[in-house]
Amino acid sequence: MENTKELRTWLDAFQLEHPLVIAGPCSAETEEQVLQIAHELKDTDATVLRAGIWKPRTRPGNFEGVGALGLKWLQKAKQETGMLIATEVANKDHVQLALEHDVDILWIGARTTVSPFIVQEIADALEGTDKIVLVKNPVNPDLPLWLGAIERLYAKNIKKLGVIHRGFSTYEKTRYRNNPEWQIAVELQNRFPDLPLICDPSHIAGRRDIIFDICQTALDLNFDGLMVETHYDPDNAWSDAAQQITPKTLVQMMIDLKVRKATD
Ligand code: PEP
Ligand code: MN
Repeated sequence: MENTKELRTWLDAFQLEHPLVIAGPCSAETEEQVLQIAHELKDTDATVLRAGIWKPRTRPGNFEGVGALGLKWLQKAKQETGMLIATEVANKDHVQLALEHDVDILWIGARTTVSPFIVQEIADALEGTDKIVLVKNPVNPDLPLWLGAIERLYAKNIKKLGVIHRGFSTYEKTRYRNNPEWQIAVELQNRFPDLPLICDPSHIAGRRDIIFDICQTALDLNFDGLMVETHYDPDNAWSDAAQQITPKTLVQMMIDLKVRKATD
């Protein structure tokens, strides 16, 4: 990957004081839920609304997302609030539908980044797009696999790229749902300093009481953004209930976090 400076241009276009904040529910549940959360996030630091509509659940029998129907809700949220919209894509059909519905940011989830064939299929379907594409780290702590996904997209002339650090699964029970292994993200940052690096504290934590500390660590490490799962009624969310925070908590968190400015 040469001329990596161009990878940053999409983030610079936001003209934000650091960091970029992407917020919204783990899953889109109903139209009302998506719109209410979007309105609660409007005029906060969050400029991008996230919601999963195709949910890759580890075990069957859990809520697997509302599917393409949710794209209409996201579009409506964008019209009503002016926020950009982001969702996870896990195959070429998802990509096609997301592009048809003018989704601004498509992200590849941790269970998809592990599969080079699927990443290639997604890269082929996105060839030459000017949409923003973010790549979550694979579930396992494997930097080359993460880099390989980025390279597959870059090779298809997709230049508005970024990465999301969401931690790595371990068999041992730790304080985290997914161990941060910060050194892996830092190594990626050292290799590609122009590649926007976003932290997903929600999936690292798995519980809302340590979201703040994870965000602060990410900002101290000069991450460019945060993707935080946010729901007006976290305890009753249809997925990832334990880790979501309310829009109100997010607003307070952004006030309390110490953001290191480029000049510091
Ligand atoms: C999500 O963002 O809701 C999600 C499923 O994340 P991950 O791919 O990191 O598990
Ligand atoms: Mn989630």
